[in-house]
Amino acid sequence: MTSPVWHPFTQHGLEQPIPLVRSAEGAVLHTEDGRRIVDAISSWWVTTHGHCHPRIMAAIAEQTKALDQIIFAGWTHEPAETLARDLLAMMPAPLSHVFYSDSGSTSVEVALKMALGYWRNIGKPRHRIVVLEHSYHGDTIGGMSVGERGVFNQAYAPLLFDVETLPFPRAGAEQATLDRLEALCRDDNKPAALIVEPLLLGAGGMLIYSPETLAAMREICARHDVLFIADEVMTGWGRTGTLLACEQAGVVPDIVCLSKGLTGGAVPLAVTMATPAIFEAHRSRDRADMFFHSSSYTANPIACAAANANLAIWREEPVLDGIADLGRRQSAQLERLRDHPKVSNARQIGTVTAMELGDPNGAYMSDLGPRLLEFFLSRDLLLRPLGNTVYVMPPYCIADDDLDRIYGAIGEALETIV
Ligand code: PLP
Repeated sequence: MTSPVWHPFTQHGLEQPIPLVRSAEGAVLHTEDGRRIVDAISSWWVTTHGHCHPRIMAAIAEQTKALDQIIFAGWTHEPAETLARDLLAMMPAPLSHVFYSDSGSTSVEVALKMALGYWRNIGKPRHRIVVLEHSYHGDTIGGMSVGERGVFNQAYAPLLFDVETLPFPRAGAEQATLDRLEALCRDDNKPAALIVEPLLLGAGGMLIYSPETLAAMREICARHDVLFIADEVMTGWGRTGTLLACEQAGVVPDIVCLSKGLTGGAVPLAVTMATPAIFEAHRSRDRADMFFHSSSYTANPIACAAANANLAIWREEPVLDGIADLGRRQSAQLERLRDHPKVSNARQIGTVTAMELGDPNGAYMSDLGPRLLEFFLSRDLLLRPLGNTVYVMPPYCIADDDLDRIYGAIGEALETIV
């Protein structure tokens, strides 16, 4: 029987198997046909403490007994109030306000709207957004507009707005990026904001750049009064070794987007956090100044309860120790493959490793990606390369045996299909 379900980023015209997952725990998925699959990419980078974490599941169950959903325009509830306070306590000053939404993409839309709203409301309208080459910020119209253009969004190009793109700060060529940013900031038509994925560009190819460059970009923005937006949707929650990647550069953004691991990866929720200046620009007695954004499920109480459980885990358990440990184990595994003649650019930041298999400049749409995906699935692994870039980003609780299986399979792929 064919399924009526239309899957994201999935070519239904290709005969690819679509596994049906019945249950999951830790870093392991169990399929309907009895297979035990290792989740090497944290189910699209969301699962931090492992699937079905007992504390998060219990918090969700508890919340369902009290309050399911309530309009959030002019109403509030305890899980959202607690979450905002506790989240800000983990963030650097002066971030002071939390706006809720439902996904990483919407947290970016909110950030862009906040930036333009800020400049409008203080009477100095600005519209230009500066972005980094190869960025990914989501698949909504704003998210695509500030992300890399390519085959995946060319059909929608007429819907996208123009942005200014900085060259990716490759090691040794960072100055070009900084010079371009400086020039854009000096322009009479000043940018409203720069948006970046700090230290690690994810879907654009798992590209790493230095904390010094991040700090320098932040400094240029501050000096020219251009807002600095950190999209920590993927890098947040310890992925790069610290709670936020920005910490490693001593950078405090004007706006921070978080999602994915906010609920430990259990249910959808996102936040966009902003400084007092941005909040105050929207607060007046004039209704035209308010922040015009909402969605029906803004700050859903069940999702907020899950996020509160995640924060409790961060506060009460040695999460950063586990992250450091996974970083060391990932590093040891990567060393096994680093010098393989068909491996290039083996790299790591925190809990994430990546490498190109075969052609070092392989295209995203090359046929190796789907072949690798199929091969890894045949080895009972959820490992979904970006073109020929294979990356490993597991839940923090992954067992050594399962890491061995992941890297063993990459080694086997190198010998058989690359
Ligand atoms: N921003 C970044 C950096 C991301 O990596 C992603 C998703 O991978 C998004 C935004 C979009 O998040 P979502 O898929 O939850 O809309």
